[in-house]
Amino acid sequence: MRIDVLSLFPEFVSQVASHGVVGRAQERGLLSIHGWNPRDYAEGNYRRVDDRPFGGGPGMVMMIEPLRTALAAVRAVDPRPTRVIYMSPQGAPLTQAKARELAGLERLVLLCGRYEGVDERFLQAEVDEELSIGDYVLSGGELAAAVVIDATARLLPGALNDAESAAQDSFEGEGGLLDCPHYTRPLEHPFGAVPPVLLSGNHAEIAKWRRKQSLGRTWLRRPELIDRDQLSKADRALLEA
Ligand code: SAM
Repeated sequence: MRIDVLSLFPEFVSQVASHGVVGRAQERGLLSIHGWNPRDYAEGNYRRVDDRPFGGGPGMVMMIEPLRTALAAVRAVDPRPTRVIYMSPQGAPLTQAKARELAGLERLVLLCGRYEGVDERFLQAEVDEELSIGDYVLSGGELAAAVVIDATARLLPGALNDAESAAQDSFEGEGGLLDCPHYTRPLEHPFGAVPPVLLSGNHAEIAKWRRKQSLGRTWLRRPELIDRDQLSKADRALLEA
């Protein structure tokens, strides 16, 4: 997969994406990330990329032309069609399902805004969709793009080692529940005991306990994720036990 990031601070995103699972995905040749700065495509001595908003008011707006030229250059380096996503608080919320969908693409362009955002005409003409990472306003789209890259890259086949398998993560698996709690050594600790079932060696009982924990904490923490009518008989019994 190839991800191109259009940003006034492209090195910020590449820096975040060079560690851990995302860095490893790049080393393994599963992913390549390329930063593009619209300032490099701006004209004039000052290489201006923003201007005052028509109608007045505070802040600046990112101009069409530097973005249009930069995006044309991005498209030209690789003949494969690409989806263009603008990181925006007004976009659809990023979900695990969306990350899965993006991980199936060959190419992706992430556009990071700054200031008051991007001239609406550019968004209308060039952007396929807008994505938000939550109902709050960041000062720029770079952190949001890094979040999209991380959530997507770890789902690329071969990015995670077996022990880190995404299949049992929250929002994955049957019903999209939250993950169960996890414990590791030491067995004895002043902070408390490890649930005995996890030491029993009884895999069926362990799976049942984990499912019950997932159902219980999803019910308590994110009840909107559970559709009671869609629960299997076994899940309903676990939830009510
Ligand atoms: N005036 C814009 C609004 O209220 O919708 C906010 C502009 S914000 C200060 C600057 C840039 O940060 C945006 O263009 C967008 O790229 C990015 N951004 C801010 N919050 C975001 C969020 N929750 N999710 C994704 N991107 C965000």
